[in-house]
Amino acid sequence: MSSPNHGVWRPIAENVEFNALESNSQAVMAVAETVRTTLGPKGLDKLLIDQAMNRHVSNDGVTILLSLKAIHPVARMIVEIAERQEQLVGDGTTTAVVMASEMIKEGKRLIKELGVHPTKVVEGIDNGVKHACKILEKDAKTISLEDKELEQIIKTSLSSKLDGINLSELVIKSIRTVGNNSVYNNLFDFDKSIKVIRKTNVSDTVFNGIVLERKRMDQEMPMRILKPKIMIVKLDLKPVKESWLKENNRYEEILNMENDRLLKSKKIVNEIIATGANTLLITSPEVDEVIENLLVAKNIFATRISSEEIEFLSRYTTAKPVRMIEDLKNADILGYADSIYEDEDTGLIYIENGSGKNIVTIIVSGTTKETSLERWRSVIDGVNASEAALNRGIVAGGGAAEIHVIEKLKSLRLKGLEQVGLDVVASALESIMRQILTNAGFNGLEKVMAAKASKPNIGVDIDTGDLVNMFEKGILDPLLVKLMALEAAGEISKSVLRIDRNLAAEDLSQQSLSEIKR
Ligand code: ADP
Ligand code: MG
Repeated sequence: MSSPNHGVWRPIAENVEFNALESNSQAVMAVAETVRTTLGPKGLDKLLIDQAMNRHVSNDGVTILLSLKAIHPVARMIVEIAERQEQLVGDGTTTAVVMASEMIKEGKRLIKELGVHPTKVVEGIDNGVKHACKILEKDAKTISLEDKELEQIIKTSLSSKLDGINLSELVIKSIRTVGNNSVYNNLFDFDKSIKVIRKTNVSDTVFNGIVLERKRMDQEMPMRILKPKIMIVKLDLKPVKESWLKENNRYEEILNMENDRLLKSKKIVNEIIATGANTLLITSPEVDEVIENLLVAKNIFATRISSEEIEFLSRYTTAKPVRMIEDLKNADILGYADSIYEDEDTGLIYIENGSGKNIVTIIVSGTTKETSLERWRSVIDGVNASEAALNRGIVAGGGAAEIHVIEKLKSLRLKGLEQVGLDVVASALESIMRQILTNAGFNGLEKVMAAKASKPNIGVDIDTGDLVNMFEKGILDPLLVKLMALEAAGEISKSVLRIDRNLAAEDLSQQSLSEIKR
């Protein structure tokens, strides 16, 4: 691999006359270079140092990419695509970047050495990616909640993460706890039933219920309510504006307004309590002190929640958010659970055994903010991997699925230049196993050849270097992660290969319009 050229980090304006394909592809290579050695469970870690000189060790593609601040515009595009991949499937970002750099390297060779027009190369890549995805889909195997493959998928997905084994236990436990309760429209949607929070002073926990990173609104409120009758209050409870009070400097008027405030507050609190509610989850960011004091006097348990938490809480307790005073008259507004309490040690609020859908909260610990953030992200990755696997099926991991697509891809025998695109995609598919093996200290190329010549699902054991069936070894990846990584890689490489000139923004006004339109 060529070493990154420092020229690529220069501001784009200086590069206007620089060969764009060369400059842009070098930028991609430079980014790929920083993450490629992290691929797979034997990948190396990176030491990240931020502006405040805080150190943090990471093995996570996205974390590393996001920490690259001084960045070429094309490299920034990779970071964005990696981020999107992370959000959509939560995994496979390094895979996508490694494949993209391989596609660009091969695509560039076609353009530079063989004189193929970039448009043809781009079309070819497009085609190649589509065919490869179809072949992968055919090879995928479906799994269900009880299958051991589900555990293997999670373990594989977290194997390259800090503390992956412990984290995978958390994920498996929570997935099996919510189980089929998480099926919506025939698909698993764990976003609706698994909440993941991070906290530095608490040990890793899977809590069967909802945990809120909140305290009670007032220390005088009860610590715990058994069999709470829960109301989600979306009413506006904010205090009367103080400035407004000051403008009215007539004592009498102020007194009137204060009385009015008291009456209104009492009325609201009384109407709320008349419904039978003894636990309030309040979205209003500010609550009038008068209301708060009345709630304390009535022994109500109240805490603030964010609007994003409403959905979870409503699904878990069956409480229907009260938006207007009139809603208080509706039937079925209250929700139920076995208990709600604030734990003084953890400083968190716990709700147990809600009467609605099952929800689990995973609390992820960490000694520093960065570690807990990375562990938190890993757990979410594991949950996403499970969801993808249950919904769309699984394929052999360790780059084996990719290797065995190549032959089928090449046997398609497309016409002329389209075949060329297939070759570009084929090299990208091959690069994954090669990189995983190189990172594990093997001669990647040699092993890849042997695996390629073997039966489907055969890959290389990264501990012994022997050929093994990845399904028997339990090294498995969700199909969806592979599809998304391939598509992302195709997208990145197509954009890079298609650009023939980089123009800095300030030049656009002077540049002839025809140049821009081209
Ligand atoms: P990404 O950001 O692309 O997810 P990772 O560092 O998580 O990168 O590596 C993922 C790759 O590592 C997948 O191809 C997966 O199959 C492979 N992998 C995970 N565990 C093993 C293993 N024990 N042996 C071989 N390959 C593995
Ligand atoms: Mg991964």
